Amino acid sequence: MNLEQLLDYLESDDGFRRQITKWMVFEEQPANYADFPQEIDSRLKDYLQTRGIERLYTHQLEAYKKICSGENVVIVTPTASGKTLSYNLPVFQTILEKKESRALYLFPTKALSQDQVNEAQDIIDHLKTDIKAYTFDGDTPADVRRTIRAAGHIVVTNPDMLHQGILPHHTLWIKLFENIKFIILDEVHTYRGVFGSHLANVIRRLKRICAFYGSKPQFICCSATIANPDELAEKLIEEKVVLIDQNGAPRGKKHFLFYNPPVVNYELGIRRSVVSEVRQIMRKIMPTGAQTIIFARSRLRVEILLTYLLELARELKIPKERIRGYRGGYLPKERRQIEQGIKNGQIQVVVSTNALELGIDIGQLDVAIMAGYPGSVASAWQQSGRAGRRRSASLTIMVASSSPLDQYIIEHPEYFFHKNPESAQIDRENLSILMSHLKCGAFELPFVKDEVFSPDITGHLLDFLVDENVLRRTEDKYFWMRDVYPADEISLRNASPENVVIIDNSDQKKVIGEIDLFAAPEMVHKDAIYIHDSVKYHVDELDWGEKRAYVHRVNVDHFTDAITKTDLKVLDILEESDEENQVIAKYFGEVAVTRVTTGYKKVKFHTHENIGMGKVYLPEMEMQTSAVWWEFEDSAFGDDFFEESVIGEGLRGIAYALHNLVPLHIMCDVSDISVVPMVRAPFSRKPTIYVYDKFQGGIGLSKKLYAIDKTVFKAVKIHISACPCKQGCPACTGPALEGGQSGKESAIKILQLLPLDD
Ligand SMILES: [Zn+2]
Repeated sequence: MNLEQLLDYLESDDGFRRQITKWMVFEEQPANYADFPQEIDSRLKDYLQTRGIERLYTHQLEAYKKICSGENVVIVTPTASGKTLSYNLPVFQTILEKKESRALYLFPTKALSQDQVNEAQDIIDHLKTDIKAYTFDGDTPADVRRTIRAAGHIVVTNPDMLHQGILPHHTLWIKLFENIKFIILDEVHTYRGVFGSHLANVIRRLKRICAFYGSKPQFICCSATIANPDELAEKLIEEKVVLIDQNGAPRGKKHFLFYNPPVVNYELGIRRSVVSEVRQIMRKIMPTGAQTIIFARSRLRVEILLTYLLELARELKIPKERIRGYRGGYLPKERRQIEQGIKNGQIQVVVSTNALELGIDIGQLDVAIMAGYPGSVASAWQQSGRAGRRRSASLTIMVASSSPLDQYIIEHPEYFFHKNPESAQIDRENLSILMSHLKCGAFELPFVKDEVFSPDITGHLLDFLVDENVLRRTEDKYFWMRDVYPADEISLRNASPENVVIIDNSDQKKVIGEIDLFAAPEMVHKDAIYIHDSVKYHVDELDWGEKRAYVHRVNVDHFTDAITKTDLKVLDILEESDEENQVIAKYFGEVAVTRVTTGYKKVKFHTHENIGMGKVYLPEMEMQTSAVWWEFEDSAFGDDFFEESVIGEGLRGIAYALHNLVPLHIMCDVSDISVVPMVRAPFSRKPTIYVYDKFQGGIGLSKKLYAIDKTVFKAVKIHISACPCKQGCPACTGPALEGGQSGKESAIKILQLLPLDD
């Protein structure tokens, strides 16, 4: 059965059709071509022709021209639109013209770097010149490193390696820094939040080193579709950037389906679970042999789905090797094998977290299924882009969960298909991040008096570091005076540089994976069921001091879901609304948050019923971060209107919806922020809702929310009011049983008090 037949079959299946709320078809798009520029080296042209490329796509030519005229660019075109050539062409042309020229390619992950160097190598092999392209990362052997530093024309690496392995040792890289012409930043949309805020500072350091060696490279950025690619690129590199977003590549016909699982309990507004629904859909798709990628929102969900699909494969007599999982925590070698297997067709179905969303080359598949809305419009398009060959049709199915965000999207397809996706936020001036990189910068080259690293505050911070005995000041210079590498202690990825290693006791103490420190208390606490490649493990011990979790294989019919408890304290108010208002006051400021995992629920596979609880004893994790909060005036509620418990239920309902809808307006994941409702906040003694960034120091999310809160509250109000349930449900104010009898009603009443009209 080919894909067209599968589509016919799905269309004629009433049960399936009934759940489709939107069936979008994007017609095939022909290519827009442009001739090669005159000056392109004949060898390069020859190479492209042997690859079947007789002409360029229009966006490739546009990029080439802008780059040659000395501008920084950001190229925004979909997966498989020949983005790589957009930068390889000017880079190779420049090196062919002027042999000493150098380029630095930065990819957010190691796997992507490897892919790119293979592609560049392919060009080099054909050109028969001695241009050299290398990856430089943690796996590069010591004896090869010297060659790369001296002879690499194209050095492909990742931000972490640039930060820890290249910049601090710039004296070994003189050849590169003296001759660097281009810096390629691919997948810039991933440089948001903490990672992006770090990267912007790494680029400050990079530009400083380049200037020291007398070079001024151009930046070539590429991004998936987001609302503000040029703004983001300009924030990252602090220079002007030209946007190139008219895609000239052809595209096959694309079917994009919104699928809402059936309601199983009207009273409570509960729908059938995404996981069981995806299994139902796969029962129809798997026998056709269509190559399918399924994206699940969490590592746990990947494992649960994989378990179900393996059961299904047994039933359908499909070899189990054809069904695989993929996520962070699998060892690198295992992942490379899976990527290969998808590419060469040996793997028919892969269930993945968003780890496969980025441009790792796995070829193009037939079907992409999202088990739950991935949290942002940009991600959804990236995931959908995994399906779709250039000349044949493809199918994407987005299966909604009961969460408010999923239900909002599925009820408002126009939002998804017609509106701009979210904008990515970074905060270059996050104090702890900035401070980290000032130290690294000082280690690399002494700061000169009045040198600007971050506008306005560089001098103050340098003086502070002198007081702390980190730097030493002479007349007009600041020198590093410790004997450690500052970069070694700073991770770009999150607030915590450490991981917890997971060790399988049942298999001669074999390391089976690792997990970052902040996720560990929830995923591998004592007595948790940890699932890896659909194998279940019982966690015997989490050794917090040694950062190790010891597990053994078990055969159980349940998984575990952690329970956490959060406390919040206001430290400082930085901004407050000056609007005269009798109902609500809003604030932006700093808070201290403590979080602790206190227990867990045991949840049965398939039925997802709760079959027991347990307690966990782990230390608190503390962080300081930024928050926005709204305080309600008691007088606004009126005497006969509310009892305190009813206000509490209303606030909880609003908080639930707010938490889920905020990511629609700010490009972040639901897990990047937390929302805490309090009937009597200790700080103000008033009913209050807090939203904070779940990252040390904050990364600009609550700040952005502070600016657009009216828009968000309006969306929350419309969404809750329009929900067909009676007393609240998972799609609006939260499950009625948990939210209380009057949660929904009270939430609506409170929202009606707010001055939201334009
Ligand atoms: Zn509802």
